[in-house]
Amino acid sequence: MAVKTKSPVAVRLPSKVHIDELQCKGCELCVYYCPQETLAMAKYVSDRGFVPAIVVQDNCTGCQECARVCPDVCITIWRE
Ligand code: SF4
Ligand code: SF4
Repeated sequence: MAVKTKSPVAVRLPSKVHIDELQCKGCELCVYYCPQETLAMAKYVSDRGFVPAIVVQDNCTGCQECARVCPDVCITIWRE
């Protein structure tokens, strides 16, 4: 009889996230979906007239949820 093994757990390494504030239209999706609360909405308006999402904590795990949900492809994530 085959021995069942657990599925491997995804390793999430410290990562950096960057939001292109001029592209961001402030839909808040990335803030809502970030499990780390790394992102928040700014308290200012961008040059395009939108309140952009910004990085407020240095605890990004690189899960990419924010980048997946962003409709305007404003988010870049990279490993350190
Ligand atoms: S990659 Fe994941 S942890 Fe990092 S900011 Fe995006 S949603 Fe949050
Ligand atoms: S999902 Fe994209 S457009 Fe929406 S607030 Fe976040 S960065 Fe801005």
